[in-house]
Amino acid sequence: MPTAIEEATEINKELPKLSNDEIARYSRHLILPEVGMEGQRKLKAAKVLCVGTGGLGAPLALYLAAAGVGTIGLIDFDVVDKSNLQRQIIHSEATVGKLKVDSAEIMLKGLNPNLNVVKHNTMLTSHNALDILKDYDVIADGTDNFQTRYLVNDACVLLGKPNAYASIYRFEGQASVFGAPLGPCYRCLYPEPPPPGLVPSCAEGGVLGILPGLLGIIQATETIKLILGIGEPLVGRLLLVDALGMNFRQLKLRKNPDCPVCGTHPTVTELIDYDQFCGIEKPTEVGPLEVARDKAVADLPIVDGIPQISVEQLKKKLDAKENIFVLDVREPHEYQIVNIGAPLIPLGTIESRLSEIAAHKNDEVIVHCKSGARSQKASILLKNAGFTNVSNLTGGITAWADKIDKSLPKY
Ligand SMILES: [Zn+2]
Repeated sequence: MPTAIEEATEINKELPKLSNDEIARYSRHLILPEVGMEGQRKLKAAKVLCVGTGGLGAPLALYLAAAGVGTIGLIDFDVVDKSNLQRQIIHSEATVGKLKVDSAEIMLKGLNPNLNVVKHNTMLTSHNALDILKDYDVIADGTDNFQTRYLVNDACVLLGKPNAYASIYRFEGQASVFGAPLGPCYRCLYPEPPPPGLVPSCAEGGVLGILPGLLGIIQATETIKLILGIGEPLVGRLLLVDALGMNFRQLKLRKNPDCPVCGTHPTVTELIDYDQFCGIEKPTEVGPLEVARDKAVADLPIVDGIPQISVEQLKKKLDAKENIFVLDVREPHEYQIVNIGAPLIPLGTIESRLSEIAAHKNDEVIVHCKSGARSQKASILLKNAGFTNVSNLTGGITAWADKIDKSLPKY
């Protein structure tokens, strides 16, 4: 009897045969009665989409490839940066600067040449999500932002696909299986995304590099179990991992009858783009984000009333000894890693420390952070507090280290 999930995932009975090379490769699976020849052929027939090839997607895709999952889809629009290598072990020094989907393919094919890798070099949006997800049996969401997490959840519920989910923050992670028949979804737990700016991203909050390895492997384990129809999947359970205390706890999750997407009276019946809501900028075109970022720098747009200034322009102003006040709004531990000598007032403390910079109310104030997101928020706060001439440094100190002072470290 096929399990409900097997039926939902349409892993069909006409399973592909294994070559002699594959039989040798998967022998430790084949002698395991719970996998065996039939299970290994199910794995070969299976199509899994890894959403993101970052910290979670790296170990996830590598283990799925090693285990013999026949088709692995990769969706990512980013390029490999050196700061990724602390945790994203599917990329390497040799592929810094390459598209992440290309970089990941090299490593996956090196591990298992029998694999079919499908690359989606694009950002998942409400327009393409259903179309991309519909071809896969299991979706594994390893994204680091709320807009994609809600999109993947809603698309999985609408398509009836299981979602092996995990997320990480600093030293903690969580995992579950959402969207399974009769099981709860992410919105049963969190009906709506948090307000913009409330939740810092990994780039702002940091993450222990090993932690996504741990959580990504839990996702891979759940994915393999779903395909094989063995064990007890994390359906209806939220696994909470605390790496510092090395504690694993579980919360029971119930399907919420009032859930906006999988409840009895759903209000979400089509996909929603939360990019405005979550304050995450969408790339202006499909393709590597770096390309879009560079274009935005060249255009120097005004965003929410705040002029965006480039690092080149800042350099010119500093060289010309113009009367400008540069303010760093990062955290003290980031300031210790690298700074350009600007006074430091972390974003979270600005409103209570306005008196310290009141003398600059009518000066040209240029605010910077690591990459330009927090300093944009700080610029708006200052403008609202009566500062008359506030600009945001596009790309932050990272762009400064890239383009102006290459001797500075990046983090
Ligand atoms: Zn739900």
